[in-house]
Amino acid sequence: MRHEVRLAALLEARRQERRYRTRRVIDSPSGPERVVDGRPCLTFCSNDYLGLANHPQVVAAFRRGADEYGCGSGAAHLICGHQRPHHALEEELAEFTGRSRALLFSTGYMANLGTISTLAQRGDVVFEDRLNHASLLDGGLLSGARLQRYRHNDALDLAGKLEASRADVRLVVTDGVFSMDGDIADLPALVQTTQAREACLMVDDAHGLGVLGERGGGVVEHFALSQQQVPVLMGTLGKALGSFGAFVAGSEVLIEGLIQSARSYIYTTAMPAANAEATRASLRIARAETWRREKLRALIAQFRAGAEQLGYQLLQSETPIQPILLGDCERANRLSVGLLEAGLLVSAIRPPTVPEGSARLRVTLSALHSEAQVNRLLAALEGLR
Ligand SMILES: *Cc1c(COP(=O)(O)O)cnc(C)c1O
Repeated sequence: MRHEVRLAALLEARRQERRYRTRRVIDSPSGPERVVDGRPCLTFCSNDYLGLANHPQVVAAFRRGADEYGCGSGAAHLICGHQRPHHALEEELAEFTGRSRALLFSTGYMANLGTISTLAQRGDVVFEDRLNHASLLDGGLLSGARLQRYRHNDALDLAGKLEASRADVRLVVTDGVFSMDGDIADLPALVQTTQAREACLMVDDAHGLGVLGERGGGVVEHFALSQQQVPVLMGTLGKALGSFGAFVAGSEVLIEGLIQSARSYIYTTAMPAANAEATRASLRIARAETWRREKLRALIAQFRAGAEQLGYQLLQSETPIQPILLGDCERANRLSVGLLEAGLLVSAIRPPTVPEGSARLRVTLSALHSEAQVNRLLAALEGLR
């Protein structure tokens, strides 16, 4: 069978390049201490930054939601799957982000595909940061617009490319916090650049929401940016908010346009109402409990100081994403295997997820990590230098 011949060749190539990916089986909820492939492990690889995925109040809200609404929503939002908890969560997310309205999507990947392909079409141009998340690039490709990538976090490079374009719609798309590097997008510069040229700015704040800003409002709260300045804001619920799903927030016209046209919104089953109830509970905790963000800041400072002292190369990141740059895949794999032998799980990130020659360990911190646990990671890193 031709397709299997081709797949087998791909598998062999992946093995040769040391890029073959495998999955580990976890026997415990999200949290620092987990059972990985049957062994207890201290983990530094989750996006559950605030430690809410297994919070008792969030779990209880999920359970109550299931008691009241059952397991599945039964249909897409536009058919008969849009239940009261979905609607309430949308209103709370709009209020939280300071936007007119918000719209739930079943995943962040789908939110990006549906939003970009609704906003841009053939004849338009979508401008994307070189380090944008894969779902943003895929959204650009799906839209049929021309895709132009600008230098990472470089508003000047973007300005030049915008100047050269005569397209009707010019959509600029960026991660708020870059998922593999942990740095924060220079949104004030991007806002200025897009507003001066009447381009539209879309920000994917998957890793900033809950983490950045005094109340956890994410990168737009961090820089105090209004709906007019960032007209299209996307956030995910499966990371700092500890549940599952995503949303897009913005104007009335934007949200109604997405409801009418975003195919990944229309042609898919609504998330379970219980999941929306769990998210409402985690949103309340994320806003109120500022200690989680303060604790993260302290752990980030502790990790950075320790790792730099050991001579490891870190990136410019003030977020819980703290990559250790290693260069080649071999070295990244070796370090991650060494850490696993010491009972620590940190994922090695290799091309094509990151650019060639920039393989890394992606350390992520959570408010539930202790100072002692970060010291354990640093001690293991010392032994593997
Ligand atoms: C995780 C992530 C997504 C996808 O969100 P899911 O809800 O996991 O599908 C989109 N954008 C960025 C930047 C992400 O990190």
